[in-house]
Amino acid sequence: MKIEIIPCLNDNYSYLIFDEDKRSACVIDPSEAKPIIEIVEKNKLKLRYILNTHHHHDHVGGNSELKKKYNSKIIGFKDDKDRIPEIDILVKNNQIWKEENFEAKIYHIPGHTSGHIAFHFFKEKKIFTGDTLFSLGCGRIFEGTYEQMFNSLNLIKKLPKDTEIYCGHEYTLQNGNFCMANDTNNLKLKDKFSKVKKKLENNQPTIPTILEDEIECNIFLRAKDLESFSKLRDLKDNY
Ligand code: ZN
Ligand code: FE
Repeated sequence: MKIEIIPCLNDNYSYLIFDEDKRSACVIDPSEAKPIIEIVEKNKLKLRYILNTHHHHDHVGGNSELKKKYNSKIIGFKDDKDRIPEIDILVKNNQIWKEENFEAKIYHIPGHTSGHIAFHFFKEKKIFTGDTLFSLGCGRIFEGTYEQMFNSLNLIKKLPKDTEIYCGHEYTLQNGNFCMANDTNNLKLKDKFSKVKKKLENNQPTIPTILEDEIECNIFLRAKDLESFSKLRDLKDNY
């Protein structure tokens, strides 16, 4: 399975995963259609599936145009069927979604939105976390509770340590600054943050990040309990 990281809008990432033999592809969270179409055409792919982590416009904005052009099927969480544009296939928590050579486990991870899900391609050890877990940060709590977000992050924390994390935005620099300001003696964080800055200087994405790095460096994953997590989340909202 090959993967292309596709920058969209200001700071979003969409991801195209594809099977090199079959030329069959899935896109995760197409913010807009145009940059996705370019990569699909360049690689001579058939865009079979559109996977949405949640209903926010910067994650589903390309749904309709891509579906129309490629006759793709749109996959999203069952409870969001009325707010994910043109959804075809409804998935639920802990279900395995499998088509062709694509196989992902669905986790319902509410907090950012009530219907947020992650797609875990467990054989490839890749997880698409949308706006729940970012590199060195986590999503804002819009519809859920602190406790839901805390539990959602803890669920991801239990995956194999070498899992690659693909998130919805390039927020790593701002997130890293916040971690550095509030976790001053963390040497692993210092090291990770300097690598992050080098990548950005070279115009490279800081994604994917590895779960092990996040457990050691991401202040939100390091929070010991719900209370300290909630305080950090409030602090970050006003940072
Ligand atoms: Zn969002
Ligand atoms: Fe977003």
